[in-house]
Amino acid sequence: MNSSSQFGHSRIGRHARQLDAGIGWLRFHGEMEREYALQVDRDQRRPAMVSAGFSLAFIILFGISDCVRLPLVERFPDLTADMWGILASRLVTILVLLGCLYICHRQHPASRVAPLSVVAVLTLAVCGAVAVCLYKRNDLGHAEFAQLLFVMGAFAPLGLRFRSSIVLAVGVVAMTFALRYWLLPMELHGQQFNAMLLLMLIFSAVGGYLRERAYREQFLLRGILKEQASRDPLTGLANRRGLDEQLEMIRLQARRENVPVCLLLLDVDFFKRYNDRYGHQAGDLALQRVAACLDAFARRPLDMACRMGGEEFALVLYDCGVMSLKDRADELCADVRGLRIDHATSDICAFVTVSIGGVLLQPQETAWSALDRADQLLYEAKREGRNRTSVERLLPVAAVA
Ligand code: GH3
Ligand code: MG
Ligand code: MG
Repeated sequence: MNSSSQFGHSRIGRHARQLDAGIGWLRFHGEMEREYALQVDRDQRRPAMVSAGFSLAFIILFGISDCVRLPLVERFPDLTADMWGILASRLVTILVLLGCLYICHRQHPASRVAPLSVVAVLTLAVCGAVAVCLYKRNDLGHAEFAQLLFVMGAFAPLGLRFRSSIVLAVGVVAMTFALRYWLLPMELHGQQFNAMLLLMLIFSAVGGYLRERAYREQFLLRGILKEQASRDPLTGLANRRGLDEQLEMIRLQARRENVPVCLLLLDVDFFKRYNDRYGHQAGDLALQRVAACLDAFARRPLDMACRMGGEEFALVLYDCGVMSLKDRADELCADVRGLRIDHATSDICAFVTVSIGGVLLQPQETAWSALDRADQLLYEAKREGRNRTSVERLLPVAAVA
């Protein structure tokens, strides 16, 4: 929430800026990386749970097959150490997968998909490798190549980012090698399988990189679309929709932090006449210059400049007290006049001017009621002659609260 451009007082959206800066390193700037991680967590929670569910079903089937083939049930409890090992590897996998599914299903805020996926993939890989080695050591038929799936699995949509997937996949390969060297005699190592495992790591990593790149690009494009929907195309400021989205949130934040927020509404004076005299295109340019002036006032992260529509604008100034409300409004009024945009048909000044209504957001009122009050004061400024400000006189917010 502390990104200054989030509220529209930066002309180019932060998603567009990030797209320009490139995504080759698979890392966004600052806060956006955290937002991306949260989005990945939301999007990939369900696929991760489905994958865990399928894996669980397969392991249970393998477990049933073990009981018949080894045969575990007939010999129980007189099992060899290897049979106990196979049984334990299946049991551990089933319990870990059930645990991960349960935690993920509870949707506790702390239950992030990524760490659960790491635990699940590592358990599947280690227990799978143990079972395969023990099968192989006992000269029983085994599905050795199923282990390749665990390397691929590290790059599946399981809530992990590419860097984590690489670490996980390398970990899986290293542990598979280690277990094979520990549990199998030399002649059973199988160099061909080792080579396949390494090749699978490389291919999966390339695929995983391209997939995450495309996913990040999609994230940015979605962000750009959203930004455009709440941005005024002529001035680059937030539009009314953008203000609606943010103002209530800003008000709640201000209430939490117990800080005052100023809301200024501006209307360009005699702008119809300006258009009639200089043309619509010149009118557009004048609006852009007024917007830039307004934008310069919205310097802090939670400040916000907005074009309400036509020749009306709004400025939200966070942590701006009643003492400076009048000063800021007067300053803004003078700065717009100071642009010295010729306005020969204005009754009040040789340059384009604005009238301003200003209020302080009250902790208990809705943002819309504050806008309404500012609107009334704006029209008071108009009635009193234009090119002036009209602000309410109130106690500072702390005293009201
Ligand atoms: P007042 O001082 O009472 O505000 O008078 P006004 O002429 O500014 O107000 P009025 O509402 O009568 O006219 C607003 C004008 O703003 C009408 C319209 O031509 C102009 N306008 C609205 N949107 C745009 C725009 O996007 N570009 C241009 N060039 N003009 C616009
Ligand atoms: Mg108007
Ligand atoms: Mg006007």
